[in-house]
Amino acid sequence: MEKQKKKQNKKQQKKHLKVYKAKVNAKKELGIKKKKEKKYTIPIFIPHRGCNNNCVFCNQRRISGETKNVSIEDVKKKIDEYLSYYDLGAKPLVEVAFFGGSFTGLDIKEQQAYLEVVKPYIINKVISHIRISTRPDYIDDEILKLLKIYNVKVIELGVQSMDNTVLERSKRGHTKEDVVNSSILIKKHSFKLGHQIMVGLPGSSIETERESIRESIFLKPDYMRIYPVYVLKNSELWSMHEKGEYKELSLDEAVIRTKRIYQECIKNKVEVIRVGLQTTEEISENNKEIKGPVSDNYKERVLSSIMLDNIIKKLSKKKNIEKFNQIQILVPKQQMNYAVGNNRENINKLKEKYKEKISIKVIP
Ligand code: SF4
Repeated sequence: MEKQKKKQNKKQQKKHLKVYKAKVNAKKELGIKKKKEKKYTIPIFIPHRGCNNNCVFCNQRRISGETKNVSIEDVKKKIDEYLSYYDLGAKPLVEVAFFGGSFTGLDIKEQQAYLEVVKPYIINKVISHIRISTRPDYIDDEILKLLKIYNVKVIELGVQSMDNTVLERSKRGHTKEDVVNSSILIKKHSFKLGHQIMVGLPGSSIETERESIRESIFLKPDYMRIYPVYVLKNSELWSMHEKGEYKELSLDEAVIRTKRIYQECIKNKVEVIRVGLQTTEEISENNKEIKGPVSDNYKERVLSSIMLDNIIKKLSKKKNIEKFNQIQILVPKQQMNYAVGNNRENINKLKEKYKEKISIKVIP
């Protein structure tokens, strides 16, 4: 009898429930693209090699997790090891990427020695091309000609900012003019160009970052990486932070600033291939030796914030929404996590917005 009563009550409640169903699809704004052909990257870290600089935020050895010099044998071993994991029968696109330090800052002979290791794999068509990352002031015609011979196809520049004051305060040792000149040169030699941009550098603001991304996009990079500044132990930024000369961004602020940059890229059809540093044992929320907006799912937070903006935009178009007692947000399955947000952050924010009077449901 009791059970029946409860059932009836529920039915009654359902009958009087006024539901607003809002369809939200933020595929374009989130930059979700169809999966391209299978591509593998064999990463070779050359920590701090080739770089005589000491950017305030840098602690390359910590980021790459490797401290020793990388020998020619190490490179070969790593390539063979990675290739053994792949199904080469499917003829995937495989690239070797020299990350970490500034490749073109190495002695020419050393650069050649590294590139020579990859050469036979390229001749045998097992590896398609090479990617390198370097500083904007370590690029000239001669270097580019050499890289071309060895099938380097992609060059990634650590741009970080296009504001000379910010670059100076970060002790980058190069100017925005270096970025302009090297980017033009790289494009002229028909390489694919990547830019890395940072949020939260000393002296930067949401305005300098907005201007930086516009100036970077003007140089037509093929892709972008966006990183928040983390304060790493033993870096100069750590001591600046201790002395109160640098204030790190809060996670919320960093996410908002990254979002602005991300949106500018999407608007201008520049592919963003990375948002936030890759989580490792050392680069993680649990490591007390890193300060700043550290998050193990930084990119998801940025995309969730974009999704929330889209949901709010949609709901704000509905007149008298407060008359409903439930809002059902219908989203494509792949956007479900972004709609809900990290730890249901978006749902909680929406509840707060509608003063808990309206229940919120996200439905795939
Ligand atoms: S240029 Fe790159 S490797 Fe050199 S100190 Fe700066 S961040 Fe580190």
